[in-house]
Amino acid sequence: MKKILIIVTMIIFGILSCGNKNSADKGEKKLVVGTDGVFPPFGYIEKGELVGFDIDLIKQIGKDLGYEIEMKVQPFDALIPSVNAKNCDIIAAGMTANEDRVKKVDFSNTYYDSGNSVLVKSDNTTIKGIDDLTPDMTVAVQIGTTGADKANELKKQGKIKDVKVNDGVDTCLLQVKNGDVDALIIDKPVAERAVKANKAFKTVGETLDAESYAFAVAKGDKALLEKINKGLENIKKDGTYEKLYKKWFEGK
Ligand code: GLN
Repeated sequence: MKKILIIVTMIIFGILSCGNKNSADKGEKKLVVGTDGVFPPFGYIEKGELVGFDIDLIKQIGKDLGYEIEMKVQPFDALIPSVNAKNCDIIAAGMTANEDRVKKVDFSNTYYDSGNSVLVKSDNTTIKGIDDLTPDMTVAVQIGTTGADKANELKKQGKIKDVKVNDGVDTCLLQVKNGDVDALIIDKPVAERAVKANKAFKTVGETLDAESYAFAVAKGDKALLEKINKGLENIKKDGTYEKLYKKWFEGK
């Protein structure tokens, strides 16, 4: 009887632990990181290389935890399905931890405070903030983002005419520059970077709702989440986080 009990326990334990395995806890010591690669300065391609604040952060955390890191670039709206399908172990993509997403993935502690802002052409004199958008206007957004949620909401309320959805920020900026759209709703640090790089743009109005970025793992992947939180805490304590923050937000 005792033997049977032990066997049954072992089987149950086996099933439980197998069901939740990804490459990070299979003992492979490899962390597959999903990112969109079109969201500067958090993750983007520069001279053919994937770089950015999030990329540096997760590489450092992963390295400290003893992982080999593999980056997997995917469209932003594909990242959550991807982590849940175990195509990647973790998302590092300036992803806002919000109520909607928390139903689908688990978030780490946050690592960056943000919020959306409105970007227009610098010679635009009519749009001074989000409330100046009118029912004849079109707004560009990046696919699957909180900025896209906001623009879709405005469209639903009849406050703007249309929403142009793009894979990356660069396409959105081009549309603003060409006058294909009237404005872009995108995360403030991303907009500010674009403004700094190109006089053709300016941001207007207040930052919209406060948002915070976090790494995301598959729902229930507590083991990995704990490690990542510890790793994040460590790089905050030892000054690496601050160094990287300066590199990406004060140096560039
Ligand atoms: N922070 C925004 C969001 O989570 C945009 C992120 C991104 O485009 N990579 O929706």
